[in-house]
Amino acid sequence: MARCPVCGRGRLFAGVLKFRDRCEACGADFSRLEDTGDGPAIFVIFIVGIFIVPLPVLLSVVAGWPSWLSLGIFIPVIVVVSVLLLRWLRGAMFTQQWRRAAREQRFQGKS
Ligand SMILES: [Zn+2]
Repeated sequence: MARCPVCGRGRLFAGVLKFRDRCEACGADFSRLEDTGDGPAIFVIFIVGIFIVPLPVLLSVVAGWPSWLSLGIFIPVIVVVSVLLLRWLRGAMFTQQWRRAAREQRFQGKS
């Protein structure tokens, strides 16, 4: 999901989460498509919040781990998993927007 939706060869991201303006392989203009907005972040919040955040609490309460240990392990895990998941979901949503030629809707009629 981190490759160009047109040619599949060029990289989609310029950094960890920032999209490139153009495909380096085929020259497709990524800047003409609107950003993916808050959609990927909502999915990350639900996935990480439901499946990962309860783990340090369970380890502290059920298994008796000290809080500093479970938080020391899981805070970096939550950050890394969130960024990786956000990157993957941003790429997936951008690709779906591109393939469906999605555009930002604007009001054009009278009120
Ligand atoms: Zn391309």
